[in-house]
Amino acid sequence: MNIIIFGPPGAGKGTQSKFIVNKFNLYQLSTGDLLRKEIKNKTKLGSEISSIINSGELVSDEIVSNLIEKFVSNDTYKNKIIFDGYPRTLNQAKNLDNLLDKYKQKVDIVLKLSVSLQTVKKRILERQTQEKRADDNEEIAIKRFKTYEKSSEPVIDYYKQSNLLKVVNGEAAISEINSEISGIIDAIKG
Ligand code: ADP
Repeated sequence: MNIIIFGPPGAGKGTQSKFIVNKFNLYQLSTGDLLRKEIKNKTKLGSEISSIINSGELVSDEIVSNLIEKFVSNDTYKNKIIFDGYPRTLNQAKNLDNLLDKYKQKVDIVLKLSVSLQTVKKRILERQTQEKRADDNEEIAIKRFKTYEKSSEPVIDYYKQSNLLKVVNGEAAISEINSEISGIIDAIKG
């Protein structure tokens, strides 16, 4: 089963991905984590993308597509991926379908975590004290939320059309969200 976890910054995608990974034996593929690793390791790609990430914009579709192909093409992860933070644009969503098709896989569920801008701000400021991400401050959090609002609607429509979209209330307690997501995945596994 391949799952997409979708939602604004601070929606809890990472937290819920980790829960799903443990419970259902999947692998988390977080494009944000992969990109931050490039910056941390001071690679050529890292130096190209750091200012984009720190301004709250999206890096190019081409860059993230290259990163995810390494996973999708690897047999270890076949049909066991939770895509966290990808796709974020309609182009990325279409690219993912093509890529999965190429490796005889598909998207099984898209979980959308809904949260308000007010919650996003509050959570990102809390996270800032723990994780020290360069893009976790109030101004950039608002920018990232706006970037999400601008690019997400076509992605949501795309998955609504294919009947894959499940909307989950991301404002609920972590354990409640855990149970709701488990129920959705169990129902699909049958
Ligand atoms: P958040 O969901 O809190 O914004 P992420 O770790 O998913 O955090 O992403 C951090 C940043 O990495 C984004 O603001 C963006 O600049 C870049 N990024 C991550 N995933 C993608 C993607 N699929 N396409 C383009 N840029 C991305």
